[in-house]
Amino acid sequence: MPIYEYRCNVCNEDFEKLVFGNREVFCPQCSSNNVKKKMSAFGMSGVDKPFAGSSSAGCTSCSKGSCSSCK
Ligand SMILES: [Zn+2]
Repeated sequence: MPIYEYRCNVCNEDFEKLVFGNREVFCPQCSSNNVKKKMSAFGMSGVDKPFAGSSSAGCTSCSKGSCSSCK
């Protein structure tokens, strides 16, 4: 899932958005499409593993649980 961080150029609101294709992104605060993409939010700290508790939990060589040694 492509999640991107955006900042609104109108009201300076920071928000994250799931983006499919080249769909336009609108600020949730003021509904303007004058927004600037910052960076991918993937791998940010504070995100719980979706499959914690399964046999793949506990991999220490990566932070996403998707490396070859996780399987
Ligand atoms: Zn805004």
